[in-house]
Amino acid sequence: MKNQATQPVAIKRPELTPKALIHQKYGSKACYKIEEVQQYVDNACPGLAIPQQVRYMYRCSLDLPDLSVTSDTFTKKKEAEQSAAKIAIEKLGIQSTTNDPTPQEAMDELVARISGLFTNEFLSSSHPLTGHIRVALKKMGACFGRIPISVIAASDVKVCNLCRVINPDVESDPLLLISLVRKAAKMSDSLVTSDKEPWISRQGAYSAEVLQLLADCESCQTGCVDIGALLIPCSTEKHPESLSLNIDNNYYYLDAIAQVLGGADSSQILISRTVGKASSEMKLYFHVPKVSNWPAYLLSEVEGKNGSLNLMLNKRASYLSGQRIYGDAVLANVGYTWKSSDLFYEDVSLCTYYRLLLNKVPDGHYKLSREALLIAELPTRYTSRMNWKGPSPRDLLCTFCRQHRLCEPLFNVKFLDSPGKFSELSRTCKNWKPSMLEEEIEKANTEADHVSNRDEERVSSFQCEVKILSRRGDPILVCSVEDAFRKEVDSIQNAALKVLLWFNEYFKQLNMPIGKLCLFGEAHQINVDPVHFLKEFVNPLSLYDANINFSSRNCTSSRSLCNALDREQETEIIFSNPEGADSGVFPSPGSLTCISYVVALVKNNGHLEEILESNDEFEFEIGTGSVISQLEACITQLSTNQSAKFITGLPPKDLILAASTKSDILLSQLSLDKCFLEYTVKILRVTEPLEDRLEQALFSPPLSKQRVDFAVQQINENHAASLVDFGCGSGSLLDSLLEHSTSLEKIVGVDISVKGLTRAAKILHTKLSVKSSKIQSAVLYDGSITDFDSRLHGFDIGSCLEVIEHMEEHQAHLFGDAVLSLFCPQVLIVSTPNYEYNTILQRSSLPSREEDPEDKSVPCKFRNFDHKFEWTRGQFEHWARNLASRHNYSVMFSGVGGSGDVEPGFASQIAVFRKQVHRDEKCIKMESCHPYNIVWEWSNKNSSVAT
Ligand code: SAH
Ligand code: MG
Repeated sequence: MKNQATQPVAIKRPELTPKALIHQKYGSKACYKIEEVQQYVDNACPGLAIPQQVRYMYRCSLDLPDLSVTSDTFTKKKEAEQSAAKIAIEKLGIQSTTNDPTPQEAMDELVARISGLFTNEFLSSSHPLTGHIRVALKKMGACFGRIPISVIAASDVKVCNLCRVINPDVESDPLLLISLVRKAAKMSDSLVTSDKEPWISRQGAYSAEVLQLLADCESCQTGCVDIGALLIPCSTEKHPESLSLNIDNNYYYLDAIAQVLGGADSSQILISRTVGKASSEMKLYFHVPKVSNWPAYLLSEVEGKNGSLNLMLNKRASYLSGQRIYGDAVLANVGYTWKSSDLFYEDVSLCTYYRLLLNKVPDGHYKLSREALLIAELPTRYTSRMNWKGPSPRDLLCTFCRQHRLCEPLFNVKFLDSPGKFSELSRTCKNWKPSMLEEEIEKANTEADHVSNRDEERVSSFQCEVKILSRRGDPILVCSVEDAFRKEVDSIQNAALKVLLWFNEYFKQLNMPIGKLCLFGEAHQINVDPVHFLKEFVNPLSLYDANINFSSRNCTSSRSLCNALDREQETEIIFSNPEGADSGVFPSPGSLTCISYVVALVKNNGHLEEILESNDEFEFEIGTGSVISQLEACITQLSTNQSAKFITGLPPKDLILAASTKSDILLSQLSLDKCFLEYTVKILRVTEPLEDRLEQALFSPPLSKQRVDFAVQQINENHAASLVDFGCGSGSLLDSLLEHSTSLEKIVGVDISVKGLTRAAKILHTKLSVKSSKIQSAVLYDGSITDFDSRLHGFDIGSCLEVIEHMEEHQAHLFGDAVLSLFCPQVLIVSTPNYEYNTILQRSSLPSREEDPEDKSVPCKFRNFDHKFEWTRGQFEHWARNLASRHNYSVMFSGVGGSGDVEPGFASQIAVFRKQVHRDEKCIKMESCHPYNIVWEWSNKNSSVAT
C-alpha cells in the first residue's frame, strides 16, 4: 500500500468470504450448482402412524475451469456454496492475500510451496502434478522421479503467483519463471536439482505406503493414443503444420513432445501458459533455447532479452501466448487435470490455431461466438440489448483486453444532471451492475417530469468514458464519448463499442506511423498514448511486418475486392432470382431478420470444393452493419420464405481456414486463386423494428393504424380529392387508404428509398387492379421531399407521417418551408414521435425474447436507430408554429396513443396545418420543374404504366 506512510491508522481490508475470493479469481467462470437432498428424519414417536418427516438439505457443486468440487450437505444454500468455494480454495492453493507479501516473503513461501509438492501427503491429493510424479516414478535410470521445472510452474497456480511477486517479468518470460523455481528448489533441504538441466526431484524416497497407493490408483488408460497437435515453426517463412503425437500410456507425454522438438527428454521442454479457453490444457511447448551457455543463462535472471535469443523468438507462438517463446513450438491440448488421474487430451487442428488467432482481433470473438466467421461483422451501432446478438460490446472489449493481457477496461460514467453539474461513478468491468444510483435518478426524474415546465427539457443523461490501461497500469488510450444516454448501461455499451470499432479499424492498418495513429485516434474522440500503445501492440505489428497472414483482415487486396463488389451491387444486383413466392413480409431497417445460410467454396468451373460455413438460424438487425454488405443487400430484396444465391471474392485465407471445421489439411493445400464464395440464403422470419413492435404491443389498435384513421378522418372532413404522401416508404398509408371509403380520386407517394417504392408499387398495383374504388390515378415518385416538384403542387391534402425525424434537423426545417411555400397543400398532416413519451415506452416491459433478466433495456436513445432526432412537445410546437406563421397557415396540435391531457402527452404527436387565405392560383407563376422520377404510375382508364 503506497499511502501507508500518510495514513496513521492502517485500514484493515475486510476478510473476503471464500465465494468472494473465487469470484475475484474466476468471475463468471465459476459455476455453482445447488442440488436438493431429501433426508428422512425419524419421527419422535415411532409407535404413531405419522409419515416420516422429510428435511430438505442442500449440496453445492462448484465447477471451475480447472477443478470441480462438491460440498457436504447444509440446511442453507448459502452455506453449501461457501463450503464448496472453501474446498476449492484449499485445493488450488489460493489464499486471500490480506497483506501483499514482499519479494523476500514470497521467496520463502515459494521454497515452502515447492517442498510441499514433493511430500508424501501431496501424492495422495488430486493435484494435476501428481500425474507427472506418477510417471516420473515409473521412469528407469537417471530420470527416475525427476520432474521438469516447467511442469511445476505450469500446473500450480500458487507457484506462478509467488514468482510474479518476486519478479513481475515472469509474466512474459517462461525462462525466467523456471530459473526462479530452480533457485527456490536449491534453497530447500528436501529437494534436488541440477545446474545443467531444469528439473527437480525429491531428496529421499517416498514412503512405501504412498507408492503402493499410487500403484493401486494406476490409470486405467492403456495402449497408445494419437493426439492431433500443431507445429508452429519459428521461421515465419514456413506454415504451421499438423502433426500427430503418438503417446504410449507407459511413457511420459512430455517425452513424446520433446521428441518432435528434437530434444532428448522432457526436462528440456518449456511450457507456456494456457492459450485459448482457460478451461483447456492447450499450451505451447518449446525447447530450452540452445544458446551455447544456456545453463549459466538459466541461473541469471536478467539476461532474458539478449540479442541472440531475440533471433530465436517464435513470433507467432509469442503472439498467441503473450510470452516469450523460442524456436519451433508445438501447440497441444494435453495434460493432467484435477478432475481425473487419466491423461486428458483433445486434438488441435489448423482450424483451432486460426481460431485462436481470430480471437485476438477485435471482432474475432464476436464472429466466433456467433459462429458466423464469414458473414458477421461487428455491428457499427448498439441499438438495444434485444436487437444486439452475441456478447455485449462491454464483454467483447473485456475479452479483447484479456486476450492482449491488458487491464480490465475502466468505465467512468458521468451523470449529467444539469449542464456543468454531474456526479461521477467509476466502474470496472468485473463488478459492474446496474447501479442503485441509476434507479434513484430515474425515479427523481419521473417525479420531476410531472412538475417540470413542458418547454424546459429535463432529461437525465449518462456519459461514459473508457480507459484502457496496460497490465502495469500505464495509460494506453482514453475514449470520451460526447453522446449522452438515458440509461447508464447504454452509455457504457456504446462507449465500449466505440473503442472496439476503433481497434478494429486499427487492426486493418497495423503499420500506421505514430503521427497518423494519434490523428486516427483524435478523429474518433480517442486519446492514444502512442508510446505505451505501441509497446503493447508490438507483437501484432511484428507479425504484420513478417508478412504473416494472420486473421486481421490486413489484405488490402481482399478489401478492395469487397469494395468493388459493393459498388457493382449498387448498380446491378449480382444474385440469382429469388426463389419462392413473395410473402409480403420483408426486412426493413431496424427489423430483426432470421435467416438460414450456407457458404460454399466454389471453383471457377462451378465445382463445389467445400462447405465452409452453414447456419440453420442466424438472426441479426438490418441496417447496423452486422453482416457483410452483400448479404444485407441481397436479403433486403427478399421476403420471408424466399431464398437466393450470390457470390463474393475470397476473404483472407486464414479466415477461410478458421471457418472450415473439417478437412483443414486439404484446404491449406488447395489452390484458392480460382475460387469464389457462393452464399445461399433464405429468410426464415422477420421481426419488425423495435419501434413498430412497441407500437403494436402497447397500443390497441396499433399506433400505425391510429395514424391512418386520423388521416382518413381529415381526408373526409375536408372532402379531399387528391393526396400526396411525403415519405411514403413502402406505401403503408396509401395501401390502407384503399381499404377505407374516402373522397380521394388521386393518390401520390414520394420517397427517396427505391426499395420502399418498389414494394409500394407491387402492393398498390395488385390492390388497384382487383378492387373497385373511386381512385382514378396513382403515382409513385422517387425524390427527396426537400426538393420541389411542380407536379405535386396544390394538392387537397398532404401527409408526412413519421418521416421528419428520419432527416437531419436542418432538413426538417427545409422541408417545412418547401411544403408550405411551394407544394402548398390545403391541409398538411405531420406526425413525429413525442420524445417525452419514451419514458413510458421504456418502462413497459415487452415480452422479452432474451433470457437476460438484468436488462430489458429498450432503445438506447431514440425509438429507432434511424431517427436523427426526437422532439419534445415544446420543440415540435415551436417548429410548427413558426412555420405556420411564416407561410400563412394555421396549425392545431393533436396526436395518437395516450392522451393529450395527461402527461406526457400523446405517443405520436401530430400537427395539422391549414392554408389560411385561398390565394388566386393564377397569380403564382409556378415554374414547371420535374426533379422526381416516376417509379410507377396507374390510371383507371388505361391500366398501369410501369417505368
Ligand atoms: N410514412 C411511412 C414511412 C415512414 S419511415 C410510414 O408511416 O410508414 C420514413 C421514410 O422517410 C422512409 O421511407 C425514408 O426513406 C423516407 N425519407 C427520409 N428522408 C427523406 C427525404 N428527404 N425525402 C423523401 N423521403 C425521405
Ligand atoms: Mg420513425
